[in-house]
Amino acid sequence: MNYQEIIVSRKQEFGSRLAILGHHYQSDSIINYVDHVGDSLELARTIGQLDAEHIVFCGVWFMAESAAILKREGQKIHTPEPNATCTMAEMAQAMTVRKVLKILRGTGRNIIPLTYVNSTAGVKAVVGEMGGAVCTSANARTMLSWAMDQGDGVLFLPDKHLAYNTGSAIGIPVAKRILVDIVNPTDDDDATLFMWPGYCPVHDMYIDADVARARRDDPDALIVVHPECPASVVEAVDANGSTAFIIDYVAEAPDGTTIYVGTESNLVNRLAKEYAGRKTIKHLDAGYCEDMAKVTVEKLGDLLSRLETAVPVETEQSIVIPARLALQRMLDACA
Ligand code: SF4
Repeated sequence: MNYQEIIVSRKQEFGSRLAILGHHYQSDSIINYVDHVGDSLELARTIGQLDAEHIVFCGVWFMAESAAILKREGQKIHTPEPNATCTMAEMAQAMTVRKVLKILRGTGRNIIPLTYVNSTAGVKAVVGEMGGAVCTSANARTMLSWAMDQGDGVLFLPDKHLAYNTGSAIGIPVAKRILVDIVNPTDDDDATLFMWPGYCPVHDMYIDADVARARRDDPDALIVVHPECPASVVEAVDANGSTAFIIDYVAEAPDGTTIYVGTESNLVNRLAKEYAGRKTIKHLDAGYCEDMAKVTVEKLGDLLSRLETAVPVETEQSIVIPARLALQRMLDACA
């Protein structure tokens, strides 16, 4: 049997005891086999509703870790490629986050940490322990407002662009936002939004010239991007939002519309295929996530072939408890 046949055969054999989840940035070769496709928020919510004993997560490591934190007793979380880390998530390490937060709180101000879901379990644990929460790009505005209400300011990590763009969306003055120097952090009494200097290499590459070129080539076209893109790009386009928002934006546009999309290319290709003949979907620029691409049909087939004995993703209880608290605060605030 080849790997495709193994996947089909093992899915039939396990039936409802197996659920395969896949992020929108996975390639079609993987999406063909998943039972639930979604963005980070949708997939996090799905975990709590699944009865399957084996949950295979096709995405990057922090997603499998989050699933392992949210899973129920007796469930096993697996990932076909444990080395598929997220470059952005690796830009914030738990020890550094703890150190920076301590310094920002040095003058007695209650600075609340808010971590994007694209972060390690260790970072989520520090954030949960320090009274903070997790957010996704879909609920970043709600969660930043929530965090602002909890204390005197917010440390938003790890994505500086999402922090800045969300600050704009909820009206935090530019003068109150500061990029944190994580090597020599200093408190700034005037700042209320401290932005960690991380970024996503896929979305950080979009530049003003991409928007100018699309406007010149197709003056009637719409442009939508992910809020992990730089602020000057986000401010120059027609709309910005999470992966789910982008999918809805394309779906709701009238037939005949041309839409440039600035996000990971697997999703853009899928949208172009889905709406072919009705709407024209173009890449604002093409960018693939190398980490997501590490999950392949071969690795999925190999995992399924030995699922009974595969070592599931496990996180230490000392991390699980505070990290779950940070995730739960998000799910409660956005219920
Ligand atoms: S697209 Fe960016 S944020 Fe998403 S997994 Fe890849 S590196 Fe991480």
